[in-house]
Amino acid sequence: MAANPVYVYDFVEGNKDMADLLGGKGANLAEMTNLGLPVPPGFTITTEACRAYLTTGHEPGGLREQVDIHLTALEEARGKRLGEATDPLLVSVRSGARYSMPGMMETVLNVGLNDESVAGLAMQAGGDERFAWDSYRRLIQMFGKTVCEVPGEEFEHALDDAKRARGTVNDLDLDAADLRALVDAYKKIFAKHAGREFPQDAREQMDLAIRAVFDSWHAERAVLYRRQERIPADLGTAVSVVAMVFGNLGPDSGTGVAFTRDPASGTQGIYGDYLANAQGEDVVAGIRNTIPLQELERLDKRSYDQLLGIMSTLENHYRDLCDIEFTIERGKLWMLQTRVGKRTAAAAFIIAGQLVDEGLIDLDEAILRVNGAQLGQLMFPRFDLSDEPKPLAKGVGASPGAAVGKAVFDAASAIEMAKSGEAVILVRRETNPDDLAGMIAAQGILTSRGGKTSHAAVVARGMGKTCVSGADALEVDTRKKKFTVDGTTIVEGDVISIDGTTGRVYVGEVPVQPSEVVRYFEGDLDADQEGVDPLVSAVHRIMAHADATRRLRVRTNADTGQDAARARRFGAEGIGLCRTEHMFLGERRELVERLILARTEGERQEALDALLPLQRADFVEIFEAMDGLPVTVRLIDPPLHEFLPSLEELAVSVAVAHERGENAGKAEALLAAVRRMHEQNPMLGLRGVRLGLVIPGLFAMQVRAIAEAAAECAARGGSPHPEIMVPLVGAVQELETVRAEAERIIADTGAGEVSIGTMIEVPRAALTSGQIAEAAEFFSFGTNDLTQMAWGFSRDDVEGAFFWRYIELGIFGISPFESIDRDGVGRLVRIAVDEGRVARPDLKVGVCGEHGGDPESVHFFHEVGLDYVSCSPFRVPIARLEAGRASVETAVASDSR
Ligand code: ADP
Ligand code: MG
Ligand code: MG
Repeated sequence: MAANPVYVYDFVEGNKDMADLLGGKGANLAEMTNLGLPVPPGFTITTEACRAYLTTGHEPGGLREQVDIHLTALEEARGKRLGEATDPLLVSVRSGARYSMPGMMETVLNVGLNDESVAGLAMQAGGDERFAWDSYRRLIQMFGKTVCEVPGEEFEHALDDAKRARGTVNDLDLDAADLRALVDAYKKIFAKHAGREFPQDAREQMDLAIRAVFDSWHAERAVLYRRQERIPADLGTAVSVVAMVFGNLGPDSGTGVAFTRDPASGTQGIYGDYLANAQGEDVVAGIRNTIPLQELERLDKRSYDQLLGIMSTLENHYRDLCDIEFTIERGKLWMLQTRVGKRTAAAAFIIAGQLVDEGLIDLDEAILRVNGAQLGQLMFPRFDLSDEPKPLAKGVGASPGAAVGKAVFDAASAIEMAKSGEAVILVRRETNPDDLAGMIAAQGILTSRGGKTSHAAVVARGMGKTCVSGADALEVDTRKKKFTVDGTTIVEGDVISIDGTTGRVYVGEVPVQPSEVVRYFEGDLDADQEGVDPLVSAVHRIMAHADATRRLRVRTNADTGQDAARARRFGAEGIGLCRTEHMFLGERRELVERLILARTEGERQEALDALLPLQRADFVEIFEAMDGLPVTVRLIDPPLHEFLPSLEELAVSVAVAHERGENAGKAEALLAAVRRMHEQNPMLGLRGVRLGLVIPGLFAMQVRAIAEAAAECAARGGSPHPEIMVPLVGAVQELETVRAEAERIIADTGAGEVSIGTMIEVPRAALTSGQIAEAAEFFSFGTNDLTQMAWGFSRDDVEGAFFWRYIELGIFGISPFESIDRDGVGRLVRIAVDEGRVARPDLKVGVCGEHGGDPESVHFFHEVGLDYVSCSPFRVPIARLEAGRASVETAVASDSR
């Protein structure tokens, strides 16, 4: 029989690269242990054991025995035994998955206490009974909630009652007798909800807690968080069992959290919160108000200095911002957690730049430390404070951005109002994991308690959502759905503005202005200038490196000279998609109507002749804006009836005219045309190349306009590079027909070099790309249509109708319109690239669908070897950065092979 896998690792056996198996928390506890830092001893049960448990519903064979062995070793290391009455070993049972999911899963502290050992614990603590009973009541509370699903409020109400009876709001005022009575109350609550007495057997407590941690992987909020953060659903969590150390042993004890740099701005320094005489969760839960970490220097200089030393060790070791959890037990410092800390988008750029300056990382690594989504966030507008609006209150700028919306006071209302299209700000005293769905729905989050490390702050930063936390002047009354500050009351539905950078809260709507980063891209800010915003200079360096590294070119989708010029400032290296549809709108509609209604060859040609100079002028403007760079112009794509008034509109005007006895004339003719041209499935109807082949002269007019515009620009000394793109081709014959005519016209105008290519957006085109490449000098993937046709659904019809369900069921991780479906649509792309290049080795290949600016998809397009991506102007910088990252990633992957 095969031996069981190793399911349990002692902290000395692990390291930081084992996060897949030991979870982030377990792997980093092991790393710190092996760095010689003061970590209480313990062991970690692997994610593999968790997965086995979750699939079969019971612990895998061998797990129990392995836990026995490690528990015995732990008992020996501590010289105490679990469940022993006079000198009990207590442990924490902690969740910890591969990717950090702050507060989403469960942890139980003080496991091992019971009615007897509580006295032993007191004795060991020098007769501190208060401490022992406090620890015991915490165990029952956490164990009850986590293992037996006892409603948390029941415990909280009992605690409030005890405080009220004492006439205090501070849990520290409860004495040993109060806490002992509270334990009795807790046990009753436990028995009532759990249907059994609180287990007195220490090992049973531990085993049940381990199971509960495994199970918490499937907790609703964890599922929701993973979906939001795109964390795979099948990883499972590891469980770390750690010897307890006590921060609730009196004023010379305490617990805290810290960052090695400011996670909101990247500034170096000491950022953290500390709470004396408290245990673990008190800090993040905002139960009492914490003090800034700096003040620890005054309380306990030795521990403080040691902590600073450890923080610098960790930064150098991880070569990144770290966040940590620690506890001081009677003057002795213990490290309980570290991880590479979450940070804001701005901080990510600034820190990456700083680490390069400090010689800890190189620029290649720096561009891997940031991403396009973060860059996108930095391009969001900020508040325009030129009218000097007076802030109502100030809290902690916990996650940057400028959010304006109606105040709401609970997650359910946030979701409901957001559904009906309202922008909302979720206001809470503090958030907890049950608020997650509401946080997702809101534009921003405002809390009256908690610092940069509170639940609200951490989760909001992770989501890139604006958050102000700890605005303690706010008196939030969630039941009455209002908050009050200095006599001003804001009720549900009142508009407020919150600034996640400065922490300021305003009444009403504060106007917003463009971001510094956008101004830099626009060329309004010089990044090399003295005193420039550190963010701008960091973005500048990182973008320069991305540009130097990337293989993919980045073009833009632009239909006007103005868009083209802006995109060029943003770094576009040409136009990958210039749509010509808009050139048929506005006052030109009338010409299109004439074209459609034409009864004779002559009438039609007249309409086309009138359109020609207008189109030519459009192209001149665009070629000038993109002088020297390629411009891919797509011949008209949508069905012509889209340019006509709607059926209803026409029917009404015809009816009205008849009613009045007037001649409906043109309206009647248009109505007839609209009826004739009506399509069941316009997406699959008379559009694209089909139009060009059916309506004589239409494509010819467009080709002539392009060629003449190019000739005109060239004659003026410009350097136009037009490329003509034929949409919706499915068969090479379609392209050949269009091509033959186009070549004639181009030669006729003397425009010089104009390349002709096609979109690949019909699956048949991808599958016959070898043939099509014979007639195409370039391919451009229209991944939106390709996705629609590969899946057989239209975006507009399905996104609201059933995508949410598909995402819930895991059929998609994300909408295939947002990020390319690598396996299906991506396969068509690969086939077309490979077979197209076989037929024509110098075939140029790009993408012009919206996927061209989606970070994930950019990596895919790099992998399959496209020459360029094309995206909307605002996404150009994002695509540049991601293309650089993709190149570095490829290099790293081939190095390590
Ligand atoms: P989370 O992932 O929610 O932070 P943790 O497992 O880190 O959960 O634990 C919750 C709190 O309990 C943290 O503040 C942590 O530092 C503290 N804690 C965990 N294990 C111990 C221990 N062995 N001794 C003292 N405090 C602990
Ligand atoms: Mg933690
Ligand atoms: Mg298309």
